[in-house]
Amino acid sequence: MATPISTIPKIRDALRATFRSGVTRPIKWRQHQLYQLARMAQNERELICDALKKDLGKPKTEVLMAEVGCVVERALKSAEQLPEWAKTEYPEVADWQKPWKPALYKAPRGTALIISPWNYPMILTFQPLIGAIAAGCTAVLKPSELVPTFSQLLDEIVPKYFDPNTYRVVNGAVPETSKLLELQWDHIFYTGSGRIARVIATAAAKHLTPLVLELGGKSPVIIDSAYDIDLAAKRILWGKCNNAGQICVAPDYVLVQRDKQDELIKAFQKHYDSFFPEGALDSPLFGSIVSDLHHKRLTSLLSRTKGQVVLRGRSDAARKRLEPTIVKDVAEGDSLLEEEIFGPILPIVPVDSLKQAIDFVNARSHPLVLYAFSDNENVKQQLVAETQSGGIMFNDTFQHVAVKELPFAGVGESGCEILLHLRM
Ligand code: NAD
Repeated sequence: MATPISTIPKIRDALRATFRSGVTRPIKWRQHQLYQLARMAQNERELICDALKKDLGKPKTEVLMAEVGCVVERALKSAEQLPEWAKTEYPEVADWQKPWKPALYKAPRGTALIISPWNYPMILTFQPLIGAIAAGCTAVLKPSELVPTFSQLLDEIVPKYFDPNTYRVVNGAVPETSKLLELQWDHIFYTGSGRIARVIATAAAKHLTPLVLELGGKSPVIIDSAYDIDLAAKRILWGKCNNAGQICVAPDYVLVQRDKQDELIKAFQKHYDSFFPEGALDSPLFGSIVSDLHHKRLTSLLSRTKGQVVLRGRSDAARKRLEPTIVKDVAEGDSLLEEEIFGPILPIVPVDSLKQAIDFVNARSHPLVLYAFSDNENVKQQLVAETQSGGIMFNDTFQHVAVKELPFAGVGESGCEILLHLRM
C-alpha cells in the first residue's frame, strides 16, 4: 500500500527532529541499531524469502546468500568497526601549526533518502541504510514498487525493529517518490537506472543535496583466445543465470576471437545442460522476469536481433519466464547492443584482435564492470591501462562484490558520487 502523499512532509520533519535531538549520535546507540538490522534480517528471513519468491520467483538459496546473509554480515561487521571509523583524527601538520591541535571530527550529514530498485531489493535498501546508521543519520527507505510484496513486508517489519521517527519506509511509485524529491534532504542515495538518475540528480540540485548514484549499463566480457574457453563459458553462464540476468553486474555481452566463437557456444551448451538438465523454464533454481513489461522488452530485443540464436531459450509470457538464450555473430548496431540487457540473453560479438575488443568497449559508456578472461599478465595490464570502468574482474564474474574490503561504484554513466564542498 502506498504511503499517503500528504504524510510524506511530516515523516521527513519527524526524522529531522530526531536527528536534531542528538539521539542518533552515541556510538553505542548506532551499534544497537545495526544489531537490530541484523536481527531483523535473521528473524524475518522466511517472510523475506517468500516475498521475493512471489515478486521475482527468486530461488531461496539466492535470497539467503545474496540478500539476507549479506545484510546480516555487513551490519555486524559495521557495528564492530564503527568505533574505529568514528574516531576523531588528528592529522600530522607542520610544526608551526601543532599548537592549534587541528582535528577531524566525523559528523553525520542529517536525514538521508534511500531509493532502491527491485532486482536485489533487500541488500540495495539495507546496505545504504547500514552506512546511514553507522554515520549517525536518520533515513527514509523508498523501496521499488515493482516488488510490491517485499515493499509491503518492509512496511510491516521495519517498525518492529526501529523507532519510526528514526528509520522509516515510504512506499509508492512515481507520485510518492516525486513528493519525496520535492523536499530537502541532507543526503540522497539512489540505486537504479541512468534514466531515472537524471530525475534524481535534477531534484537534488535544487537543494544542493549531495548524492550517490549507483547505476548500471552494459558490462562486457573479453575472452583472451589463449584462455580455457570451457572454464570461461561455465563462469560466464553462472554469472548470467543469477537472478535471470537481472543484476547490475551481469555479464552483458561477450567479445571473443572470431575463430573461438563456435568452441565457446559448444561449451555454453554443455554447461547449460549440466546447470539445468530439465531446462530452466520450470527450474526452481532459475528466477523469473520482474514484470510483463520487461518480459516484452526482452523478447522484442530478441525478435529484432540480426545475430543467430544458437541456444534458444523457451519463453512463457504468462509466467514471465525466459530461459537463457545465446546469440552469435552480433555486430555493431544490433538490437542486443542498444541498451543494458538486464535479462538472460547473452550476445556474442566476434572480434579479430584484443585491440578491436578494447576499442569496442571504449567506444561505449564506461561499464560498471569489465570482465576479462586471461592468464596473461601483459593482457591484464593492458586492459587495466587502456579501459575505464567501475571495476575490473579477471577470470570470473562478479565475485568481487563479495569482497567488502574493495569499494564498489560505477564511473560516468554507470554511477557517480556528487559531493558538495562549498567554501566561503
Ligand atoms: P526501478 O524501476 O525499481 O527504479 C528504481 C527506483 O527509482 C524505484 O524506487 C522507483 O520507485 C524509482 N523511480 C522510478 N521512476 C521514477 C521517477 N520517474 N521519479 C522518481 N523515482 C522513480 O529500478 P530500475 O531503474 O529498473 O533498476 C534497474 C537498474 O538499476 C539497472 O540499470 C541496473 O543496472 C541498476 N542497478 C544498479 C546497481 C548498482 O549497485 N550499481 C544495483 C542494482 C541495479
